[in-house]
Amino acid sequence: MGSFASYAAREESGKGRRHPEPAAPYRSDYQRDRDRIVHSTAFRRLVYKTQVFVNHEGDLYRTRLTHSLEVSQIARTVARALRLNETLVEAISLAHDLGHTPFGHAGQDALNACMRDFGGFEHNLQSLRVVDQLEEKYAEFPGLNLTFETREGILKHCSARNARELGELGRRFLERRQPGLEAQITNIADAIAYNHHDVDDGFRAGLLSLDELRGQKLFNEQYEVVHRRYPALGDRRLIHEIIRRMIDKVVTDLIDNTARRLESLAPASIDDVRGLEDPVVVLSDAVFEDHNALKRFLNQHLYRHAKVTEMTDKAKLMIEVLFERYQSDPDRMTEEFASRATADGMDETIKARVVADYIAGMTDRFAIAEHERLI
Ligand code: MG
Repeated sequence: MGSFASYAAREESGKGRRHPEPAAPYRSDYQRDRDRIVHSTAFRRLVYKTQVFVNHEGDLYRTRLTHSLEVSQIARTVARALRLNETLVEAISLAHDLGHTPFGHAGQDALNACMRDFGGFEHNLQSLRVVDQLEEKYAEFPGLNLTFETREGILKHCSARNARELGELGRRFLERRQPGLEAQITNIADAIAYNHHDVDDGFRAGLLSLDELRGQKLFNEQYEVVHRRYPALGDRRLIHEIIRRMIDKVVTDLIDNTARRLESLAPASIDDVRGLEDPVVVLSDAVFEDHNALKRFLNQHLYRHAKVTEMTDKAKLMIEVLFERYQSDPDRMTEEFASRATADGMDETIKARVVADYIAGMTDRFAIAEHERLI
């Protein structure tokens, strides 16, 4: 593979780790970040966390783990095509959902509501907490001690209040500037991955029909092409052939449009990219519109489908019960969390944060079992 573009993230000029470490003989810094993420406890738990469908509903649906792998594949393709740092993009992708609660967005909304008086709960910030503080892998420091660039990519969004406490990492949210291109790629790859795999999962679950989907321009364009060419194709292969072509179209558009923008903006370095007001890695206006329309469609027809909300309502209730029980009696958590929550001089805010960390780390099935045990 050719050399990196001038505006790619490079280890030699990276901002480094919070705790300095000697270089490894055979691996680069971003390789080590990726390896640390894959070996983390939080990463293994992604297998049992909901994307849209609760983990035990069927073996064919996406989980947070398979979602993260799909994000990584898309992001790596884009990074390589633009001569950016593919290894960094992979590390960010694999870590981007580490802080997600059980039960998908319903879980995160419920936990955020429980934490209302204690600083709230943001899953992006929680992913950063996992890699900075919660993983227990090293004698010398808490967390995984990842490089600045990986951490920059993990923190996709952040409220101004929390950004102020993060030092250099939080500054861009206050100054409304951009992260490096590798972080920008992962951010969009995430949206491309879920928009398309949720069409697949929603169709398989019987919650989205072919007719409904054909109302979506991105889908219908490819439907027309595939149907004309293979009129007798069965539903399963039809839907997969369509989704495959949809992803190809959107990703190709992303690469082409970004390459054009890079040419006209001509940043000389990653710091030039960081100084820009607008993101560089963006879809063309036309495809952006269609992709956004698909997102709105999924919001209305899948995420708010009665079958899905029936599950998510239950999940919200479970999170509320767990939070309330642990907060009033921290000894119901594992010893390690219980002792953190009851340490001398611990105020309610810190105690609530320990409870949130404990709940956020749970898999769907562990949360369900804990709920059973506590009621
Ligand atoms: Mg994601």
